Amino acid sequence: MTTHSKLIIAIDGHSSCGKSTMAKDLAKHFGYKYIDTGAMYRAVTFFVIKNKLFTGKIIDEKLLQQAFKENQINIEFKYNPIRLNSETLLNGKNIEQEIRGIEVSELVSPIAVIPFVRHELVALQREMGKEGGIVMDGRDIGTNVFPNADLKIFLTADPKIRAERRFKELKEKGQDVTFDEILKNVKERDFIDSNRKTHPLKQAEDAILIDNSYITIKEQVQKVIKLVNQVLNKKTEREN
Ligand code: C5P
Repeated sequence: MTTHSKLIIAIDGHSSCGKSTMAKDLAKHFGYKYIDTGAMYRAVTFFVIKNKLFTGKIIDEKLLQQAFKENQINIEFKYNPIRLNSETLLNGKNIEQEIRGIEVSELVSPIAVIPFVRHELVALQREMGKEGGIVMDGRDIGTNVFPNADLKIFLTADPKIRAERRFKELKEKGQDVTFDEILKNVKERDFIDSNRKTHPLKQAEDAILIDNSYITIKEQVQKVIKLVNQVLNKKTEREN
């Protein structure tokens, strides 16, 4: 594979519909880097919670903006060779476990609507992905971060099925949550993400829609690998 065929693959979609599972599977198959942009919004949320920069769901934007200006929020990903996944670091500290809990999930969407937060994180995402050979998942990758991505996928599934999967996952991790709480959170995040002014969640015109309510992870992976191979073949033909 030449460096020219190192694709940018954008995966967007609703909350908890398996975007990261799909993105990780693809990255592994093609030897690409996986970038979880949701983790970046979650890391900022963790910073806000840790530093008590909020009251209810109202964020102290002035203090948060100052923290960005003073470089107090440094987000990185580090590969964990034991767990075989990439983990999120905030200012050098591994916060992968903390950012997946319900406390962060409940505050992340109100934080992701703030324009300067998006501006900062989008700049970082473009920098991380500029060389290609990446699979990036989020809400605005195909519409805003990489509008010229080589392949765009928009993933969705029935909200109840999504909440069930998420509930099972959190329960397995020993978290004290109820199904209703998760379903409410999934619907709330979809609503806020789809209705915000700055780069809302929506399917890019050239994205391929996949509803994975009733397909297995294996079927999904086979389908997207096929799509990536089609794009790679077309690109190689053009380059020769
Ligand atoms: O993907 P994940 O569910 O971890 O994302 C957490 C939240 O971060 C989303 O509900 C959304 O509010 C925000 N987000 C975003 N844009 C992205 C990725 C995530 O607004 N590109």
